[in-house]
Amino acid sequence: MLSVTEREGALVRENDDIQSQSNILTIDIEDWQQSESDVLYGGGAGPFPMDAPSKRVIDQTLCLLDLLAEYDVRTTCFVLGSVAESHPALVRQIAAQGHEIAIHGYAHKLVYAMRPDAFRADVARALAAVEDCIGMRVLGYRAPYFSITRRTPWALKILAELGLTYDASIFPCTPALYRVPGWNGWGDVPRYPHTMMIDGQELIEFPATTWHALGLRLPLAGGTALRVAPVGLLQRAIIQANAGGHPAILYLHPHDMDPDTPPRKLAGDSLRVQWLRWQLRIGRSRTASRLRGLMTRNRFVPIQEWLAQSHATVSADDMPLAHESVRVP
Ligand SMILES: [Zn+2]
Repeated sequence: MLSVTEREGALVRENDDIQSQSNILTIDIEDWQQSESDVLYGGGAGPFPMDAPSKRVIDQTLCLLDLLAEYDVRTTCFVLGSVAESHPALVRQIAAQGHEIAIHGYAHKLVYAMRPDAFRADVARALAAVEDCIGMRVLGYRAPYFSITRRTPWALKILAELGLTYDASIFPCTPALYRVPGWNGWGDVPRYPHTMMIDGQELIEFPATTWHALGLRLPLAGGTALRVAPVGLLQRAIIQANAGGHPAILYLHPHDMDPDTPPRKLAGDSLRVQWLRWQLRIGRSRTASRLRGLMTRNRFVPIQEWLAQSHATVSADDMPLAHESVRVP
């Protein structure tokens, strides 16, 4: 009888030919404690203050880098500014191994929980921390919890004003299917990379992958889905994107691969808290084998490399980037 890992491997190998189309794998470099505390305890202002990044993120990230190197896969890493300040050698090592470095904000705050001036300060602080660390200009941003939504289009304008050229903060799934409290989504923007015109400035958006089925946009881009959903569904989402000539855009965190991630102390015993406890624990021991299966079957490149390939293979007038205008109040 096949183990779960073997069955998952067989599912993604149903067609052994590696896909020739390039997809994009992204990693949000953050510590586990930072990842959940702001959402679970209300914007970081709850009873548990935002912890500084622990050394655990170093071991988890090095483990993930080793796995990526085995498959010669390079990614785009969205690094939290506070991680770059606490562990600069780690971020330099990520860059030295050929991964693209972008930013994930400074303190892992939800964008829709911030005022525009606080958001601008958080992004500027992250930019300074990460660019100082690697000595290179950074071009991309991803919001914690994909928290740029239809309520916060002003955030896109601020990113462009700060000199960023692309964003990966929009999860264009059916809003009811994403679990973060307060997230009301942006489920009707294009599902694939597109250029947005924001008050005359261009910003390229790389939305997380959704699988369109049953009239819904299902969030199958990584993170919890990589740990919980059948890996065959993730592969189908990739195939659906590629069939339309688009890259799939997947994501995960270093802590998604660590089955020994310490449990978060959650107060209370309500159904919601019990659900969160289960969700935070489930599937971490399977992530590495699932990622191996996806890397065996699919080709992944960093965002900048995908953009360079797209420009190289088509004329500028025929870019496979739909244009979308965003009105900023
Ligand atoms: Zn994050």
